[in-house]
Amino acid sequence: MDAIEILRQLKDKGVRFTPQRQAILEFLLETASHPTADEIYHHVKAKFPGVSLGTIYNTLNMLKEHGHLLELSYGDMSSRFDGNPENHYHIVCSKCGRVSDYHRTLIDLDQEVMEQSGFLIMGHRMEFYGICPKCREDEQLN
Ligand code: ZN
Ligand code: MN
Repeated sequence: MDAIEILRQLKDKGVRFTPQRQAILEFLLETASHPTADEIYHHVKAKFPGVSLGTIYNTLNMLKEHGHLLELSYGDMSSRFDGNPENHYHIVCSKCGRVSDYHRTLIDLDQEVMEQSGFLIMGHRMEFYGICPKCREDEQLN
């Protein structure tokens, strides 16, 4: 879904959109970097110096609530945000922390887990960990 369509849907639901909020949404849709709230803040601040971290957080919460955002939480570390809310897989670099998408057909396990556990399964999350190509190259140079 593009920014215009998301804006239209949210306006129909009575959500107020300031230019700052719109800039946050557009950044999330255009970047493949899975930024932290802090990174989003610094990006938007370049264009809107008056933007606050509070605006970043409440916009992220609002987008998440309405199903337009995926939050990837990592325990103690800052969450990363993904403007693509469809279930997909990620690869995380253990050295630099970079998060990349890995697109493949979803593994069909939800039904089995539901039957075996008695949980109502809403989805699943799978991540791969390793060293990214850039870090592997740097390692060889050192
Ligand atoms: Zn790396
Ligand atoms: Mn992703």
